[in-house]
Amino acid sequence: MTNFASLGLAKPLLSALAAEGYTTPTPIQSQAIPLVMDGKDVLGIAQTGTGKTAAFALPILHRLAANRRPAPRRGCRCLVLSPTRELATQIAESFRSYGAGMGMTVQVVFGGVKYGPQVRALAGGVDILVATPGRLIDHINEKVANLSETEIFVLDEADQMLDMGFVVPIRRIAKTLPRVRQNLFFSATMPSEIEKLAAELLNPNPSKVSVTPQATTVEKIDQKVLFIEAARKRVLLAELFDDAAMKRVLVFTRTKRGADRVAKGLSAIGVEAASIHGDKSQGQREKALAQFKAGEMRALVATDIAARGIDVDGV
Ligand code: AMP
Repeated sequence: MTNFASLGLAKPLLSALAAEGYTTPTPIQSQAIPLVMDGKDVLGIAQTGTGKTAAFALPILHRLAANRRPAPRRGCRCLVLSPTRELATQIAESFRSYGAGMGMTVQVVFGGVKYGPQVRALAGGVDILVATPGRLIDHINEKVANLSETEIFVLDEADQMLDMGFVVPIRRIAKTLPRVRQNLFFSATMPSEIEKLAAELLNPNPSKVSVTPQATTVEKIDQKVLFIEAARKRVLLAELFDDAAMKRVLVFTRTKRGADRVAKGLSAIGVEAASIHGDKSQGQREKALAQFKAGEMRALVATDIAARGIDVDGV
């Protein structure tokens, strides 16, 4: 059986993994880590929940540490593009915890917050930059960011990027990257448009890795479907909350307005709830997520887009 040490990861990474309590690499990790450490381009089909973040973060930290050099001014050594602010924050947190004790700088850049702190953080250069496409383009336009010395480029959740209309910004950002670079491209699904984007961004003949998502969700989640007329959905949801075991519940809605309505309805019957979606400010989103994680709020109502990839224990 493989373990992290047999993959040849650097000592500080092994200590960080031990501290996290990870003993065995997940399938995507045992497939991708050796390839990325080897400098190969990787095209990965994997969803969140499969251990995908560590599958790229660990070997990237390993490579950056094995070949230390100062981060380029206004730029980064590794760029990770992520569709949402929440996911960007989570990816940056993973880099920070796995890279603890390696002296790597990690910065996130996303919209909905002030420019100043991001501008200052970018000025001196960072080892790992995790960004959403829109705000990064702003920084490039303002000449605050210069990505011409990026060594490793990661595109995460490519299919969601496509759904959110980020393909044009991604192409623009990619044009500012150096031609010679390592590329890692992850997507939960591989429709033809995504395949085309991958062919444009990756070097020819990338290594392909794929894990079937079904196995991971079915094992970890008990699933149940309740059929009900639309008009009675609210009442049914309220009844589900009569069960005291429903302490930390994530409710998905299709629309942003639907999320607000459901959160309001739950609050009205005494269930502490908040909604998160793209129309909420960054501060509101962070506060809601923090309260939910801390157990101060029983229900978090989210649109699929805002919540994809959110990782909270004990839901
Ligand atoms: P991800 O797919 O990157 O969102 O990761 C899903 C969850 O799995 C996160 O909570 C990780 O902290 C956790 N995780 C990742 N790799 C491992 C591992 N090898 N062993 C145990 N948990 C892991």
